[in-house]
Amino acid sequence: MDYKGIAGKSIDEHREVLIDVSNRIHREPELGHQEYKASALLAEALRGHGFSVELGVAGMRTAFIARGKPREGPTIGILAEYDALPGIGHACGHNLIASSALGAAIGLSAVAADLPGNVVVYGTPAEEGVVENAGGKVLLLDEIRKSDVAIMVHPASLWGSYGTSNARESFLVEFFGRSSHAGGAPEKGINALEGVLLTFQGINALRQHIDREVRIHGIIKRGGDSPNVVPDYASAHLYVRAPTMPMLGEYYGRVMNIVKGAELATGARSKVTRVANTYANSLPNKTLSDAFRENMADVGAEYPAEIELRRGGGSTDFGNVSQVIPALSAYVNIGPVVLHSPEGARMTATPEANEVMIKAAKGLAYTAIDLITEKELLDAAKREHRQRLAEQAHR
Ligand SMILES: [Zn+2]
Repeated sequence: MDYKGIAGKSIDEHREVLIDVSNRIHREPELGHQEYKASALLAEALRGHGFSVELGVAGMRTAFIARGKPREGPTIGILAEYDALPGIGHACGHNLIASSALGAAIGLSAVAADLPGNVVVYGTPAEEGVVENAGGKVLLLDEIRKSDVAIMVHPASLWGSYGTSNARESFLVEFFGRSSHAGGAPEKGINALEGVLLTFQGINALRQHIDREVRIHGIIKRGGDSPNVVPDYASAHLYVRAPTMPMLGEYYGRVMNIVKGAELATGARSKVTRVANTYANSLPNKTLSDAFRENMADVGAEYPAEIELRRGGGSTDFGNVSQVIPALSAYVNIGPVVLHSPEGARMTATPEANEVMIKAAKGLAYTAIDLITEKELLDAAKREHRQRLAEQAHR
């Protein structure tokens, strides 16, 4: 049976619907855990294609799990993100992630009656680590890990399916001091802003002596209200990123020491609160990468023939998924886009980007079909995953 032909035809027949879904999510950007419209839109579209959808799972109102009729055979999870960034909207193109996942699911639903396996779409909120309790995939991990494999795409300025991402902590550092007249009675004040400034200085002093792959960066959120009042409260939102979880733990610990040092030096009490859930580093999977690359070449994407492993400096909760099952997060090229910039937000809703999204939907659907129908391929992906886990443990 020509599963791919039928799935591809169905995706083509639904292209206007998919583009509309992508543009609608793009037009009304919603922050993490507030993606009410996007999650409802996707849930409704999936129900219309024979999926039974549970919306509001794992303690998240905007997370969902969409299942086809259960069958014997392997289960392929497709991951959908749909959160936006504060101020600049869909500058990471998660609208394209959502619509390509929906497109793949629609294509696969056209062959579901004959396909010897299962397709589950996981709606995973709050990927951007800027909102409280970010990391929908971390919170959904006990569900996602029931799949044999998980796949998704992410828009980018290049094609790629074989890469890593950094593990990450995202946390708020607060200092509590005492206000006084900054000119009249400074000796009566305890300056919370100095706690924040010393934290940044301590991190900058550390910077020269850290592993080159480690990233520590952040912003000052509150620095006081008035120059003539000693700030009694100041805060910073910081990230620590590292290529492995043990390194992340080590450098996070060093930053905690810096915060304690700043507390001692200033007398302002400190408090540290994790903002996002801890994101793990991504484990690449060459088997899945090659399968996806071949399928994308078949639908006319100009994928490079051989793909070098790409070390990514960013972080994603996809990393946590890749630590428990073989998983693929492939980059699809929507042009020279700078993600997380206002210009990036414009580029994630162009006709060119939507064209790539349709191809990505096919690439995902075809890769799911390969994994369901070729037992050796699925076994190879699992074997590679076990190997990567073992190598990581010895790093
Ligand atoms: Zn993103």
